[in-house]
Amino acid sequence: MGKTKKYVYLFGNKKADGNGAMKALLGGKGANLAEMTRIGLPVPPGFTITTDVCTYYYQNKKSYPRELDSQVKSGVEFIEKIPGKKFGDLEKPLLVSVRSGARDSMPGMMDTILNLGLNDQTVRALTRLSNNERFAWDCYRRFVQMYGDVVMGVQKRPGEDHEPFETVIHDLKHERYGADIEDTGLKADDLKELVARFKALIKERTGHEFPQDPWRQLWGAVGAVFGSWMNDRAIVYRRKYNIPSEWGTAVNVQAMVYGNTGDKSGSGVAFTRDPATGEKVFYGEFLINAQGEDVVAGVRTPEPVAQLKQQMPRAYAELEEIRKTLESHFKDVQDFEFTIEEGEVFMLQTRNGKRTGLAAVRIAIEMEKEKLIDWRTAIRRVPADQLDQVLAPVFDRKAIKNARCIARGLPAGPGAASGKMYLNAERAVEAAAKGEKVLLVRNETSPEDLRGMIAAEGILTAKGGVSSHAALVARQMGKVCICGASVLQIDYASRTVRAGGETYKEGDSLSINGTAGEVYPGDIQTAASEVVQVLIEKSLPPKESRTFQMFKKLMDWCAQVSELEVRTNADTPEQTANAIAFGATGIGLCRTEHMFFEGERIVAMREMILAEKIEDRKKALAKLLPYQKEDFAGIFQELKGLPATIRFLDPPLHEFLPHDHAAQNQLAQKLGVSVDKVSQRVRELHEFNPMLGFRGCRLGLVYSEISEMQARAVFEAAAEVQKKGIKVKPEIMIPLVGFKRELDLQVELVHRVAQAVMKEKGVKLNYLVGTMIEVPRGALTADEIAQSAQFFSFGTNDLTQTCLGMSRDDSGSFIPAYQELEIVKKNPFASIDQSGVGKLMQMACELGRKTRPDIKLGICGEHGGDPDSVKFCHKIGLTYVSCSPFRVPVARLAAAQAALENAKPPAAQRRK
Ligand code: PEP
Ligand code: MG
Repeated sequence: MGKTKKYVYLFGNKKADGNGAMKALLGGKGANLAEMTRIGLPVPPGFTITTDVCTYYYQNKKSYPRELDSQVKSGVEFIEKIPGKKFGDLEKPLLVSVRSGARDSMPGMMDTILNLGLNDQTVRALTRLSNNERFAWDCYRRFVQMYGDVVMGVQKRPGEDHEPFETVIHDLKHERYGADIEDTGLKADDLKELVARFKALIKERTGHEFPQDPWRQLWGAVGAVFGSWMNDRAIVYRRKYNIPSEWGTAVNVQAMVYGNTGDKSGSGVAFTRDPATGEKVFYGEFLINAQGEDVVAGVRTPEPVAQLKQQMPRAYAELEEIRKTLESHFKDVQDFEFTIEEGEVFMLQTRNGKRTGLAAVRIAIEMEKEKLIDWRTAIRRVPADQLDQVLAPVFDRKAIKNARCIARGLPAGPGAASGKMYLNAERAVEAAAKGEKVLLVRNETSPEDLRGMIAAEGILTAKGGVSSHAALVARQMGKVCICGASVLQIDYASRTVRAGGETYKEGDSLSINGTAGEVYPGDIQTAASEVVQVLIEKSLPPKESRTFQMFKKLMDWCAQVSELEVRTNADTPEQTANAIAFGATGIGLCRTEHMFFEGERIVAMREMILAEKIEDRKKALAKLLPYQKEDFAGIFQELKGLPATIRFLDPPLHEFLPHDHAAQNQLAQKLGVSVDKVSQRVRELHEFNPMLGFRGCRLGLVYSEISEMQARAVFEAAAEVQKKGIKVKPEIMIPLVGFKRELDLQVELVHRVAQAVMKEKGVKLNYLVGTMIEVPRGALTADEIAQSAQFFSFGTNDLTQTCLGMSRDDSGSFIPAYQELEIVKKNPFASIDQSGVGKLMQMACELGRKTRPDIKLGICGEHGGDPDSVKFCHKIGLTYVSCSPFRVPVARLAAAQAALENAKPPAAQRRK
């Protein structure tokens, strides 16, 4: 093609211009169609318009590159030659499908237009060719419906519960048959009438005629695909999954094959393994006499693919072969679409199958065992944030025994969820925003329901199969989901659901078990996952849980490659024990303030705050000392020699005082002071910006007796535990340091108390003193601070707050809008703002190491459990991340993946 840029890539007849590695240019679908063609699978011929055209389209006022027109024409000619048909021909018309295809599949976008090329003339040619009038008109009515919907925009309006074309079909069925008959029961004459009514509907809604010219149809469809890249649903989806809008989508144009010619034809979608459980079974579903859309739309409930064995044994055997070829070629579970036309199998798509967290673990472990992949690849195959699902709760066994199952459906997303049911996505979102736990209950879901699905704890549909929209999206989000619970009679108008002889109103509670596919009325208590039962509750022997064994294997592999350690944020012996059971290697943050709230402690704490004289304050602190000591001793014993980073008091003091009059009165009585004194002190402590106020090391500097008491509690506890023969490694951490002198004064105090305690108790203690880096000045002067700090731990909650100048408590009101506007891709309080906060961290690491090359570096903000942030921490060379106990497995997996992504040659890899 000389200098002309190539925008169109052909595939067909076992040859293809592209291949499976070209996903960025051809999109996932286009690249894999090319790849399947190359490896000899039966793929109908076609071509892919590249993602570059999408980029061009948006950069050039929605126009196309000059060369595109002729390249598309050549593409159509290429297809025409293979089956010997011609586009728009009145004798042997070629019909095509037009599909979108981004790099990653995106349910929010335009999916498919089938049977393009049909019009009032070519439908007659198709009738003659197929000798099947019903089939030809069925194709035409589908085409007008899809085209009217996705290209011409005839869609459900806000507040409407049904698609307008579906309403037309519904009305005709009732007029002519008096019932909701199956679509396959419609006769040619009915279909002709539907086409006429659809055209009228399009004209009425849009003011335009349905286009008869196939080329106009084709360009309309291509434009709709590119247009759908920027529709609301696609934007929501991209935001959730962090897909950059610059990627763009490709368009695939492909010769039609027909699953709707009669009983020897059908369409299906299948997975090479079960995507909900990971079991190695041929899994999927199909519909006889149907096109692909019918299977995924969830309108008719399809049959399991195993049934094909009886109904079409030859096609089934061929599909089994294809299933093996796909796995041995792509080395991963494939989710594929096929059509059987008069007994002949065609492949329309394949992609890596989306799976639940549970399935991801099982598939990775079993594929390694089958030698399809090695163990390092297995680690990369489990999305770190999905590992959470393996730890997700199930229904409490006792509670479920007494519950009455009112409906069964297909188990589409495992786990247990309870909540108030809502029959419409908008209302579900509203209720969730008010803090309710909600279940979204619908006949079927469509991409418009995405927001409601995100907001819901679980999703329940009355129609549709395991590959319906609801199931696919739920699985990816890790939501509990049941599809096709067909006994549910959902009435959108009265907002009720009938099942098991009862009527439930919107807002009533339901419980769903997405592992078993069972629906129960009311709220049912949930119980811990098997992994938690084995490791935390110790109520299940490890041998009895396969899930646990797989989880353990994965975690053991992770330990072999990880360079980052994973510590935990824990304030109690119990939390510490849990985290260690999950593999934490110590405490990265013990927030001591949490220890002051329990029972009598809060009274002593308040007494300390109210004290006017230092002696009184010391008296109150003396009451707190034994409590603190006991807490630390408990934690040291649990840690058995693992390090514990203990942070001194951090929050502003007003957080410990009662703010309402009654509670102030009570406190005054307890302490024997006047209520006025209490309320006056509360007023005195009021700050306009408490998070930037009298907190952190400022407290310990102004009231040094507080730090003194805390240091004494740490060292006395350490001495006691060490005397019992248990190793202790306290690491005292000073919060909110911005000036070296702040740290110096506190370090001096800590050393003084340590010396005193060691002398009193006659022991030698090993301990470190370090600081949090959580204000920009601390990061900017990290070289100075490192002179006094033996370690840094990034407090990225405060560092984000202070670097961005955004309140960590109030940013919820505008961050969603910022994400929508793509000012921030992710919430910076959940995932590190790498180019801003991250730059400060990187600088602090470099400055710190310059002064103290062996300085220990960690992170203890909430980001320590976020996989992307963990990977960032690996890159800047931190020693550890610290996160809440139940996030430890996620962080361990992310740490291992980070090490693999930045892998040195195997010999250089550090083995532990
Ligand atoms: C932080 O600021 O990141 C941190 C861990 O401290 P806290 O959340 O307690 O302020
Ligand atoms: Mg902080």
